[in-house]
Amino acid sequence: MAIQKLLEQIEQQAKNCNYTKVTEVRLRLGCWESIETRDLAEAFDRLKGNGLLENARLIVDKNKTQAKCRLCGNIFEVVYLKNRCKKCGSNYMEFIGDRGVRLEGIDGIEKGT
Ligand SMILES: [Zn+2]
Repeated sequence: MAIQKLLEQIEQQAKNCNYTKVTEVRLRLGCWESIETRDLAEAFDRLKGNGLLENARLIVDKNKTQAKCRLCGNIFEVVYLKNRCKKCGSNYMEFIGDRGVRLEGIDGIEKGT
């Protein structure tokens, strides 16, 4: 499961930083990722346990969908599906997106401070 892997990554980073407690976890979701931010937060709460991550706040950012105009090569953010290229007005475009959940960073309390 992806979350389990993330938790391992988080623990590893916390160790590298000498954190005794993690206060904040920042994740980034690919725009094609089907998991909802809310589901992710729930899974995180369920799995974080009572140790290192007990009081960690989860912050999830989702990438925006982008499109590339096939006529002029302009790359722009897609707000709704009938968007046109802002540069040349064409609606001949391909969508660019990514999947997955990435750990962006953590904050924590260092040992001895
Ligand atoms: Zn264009």
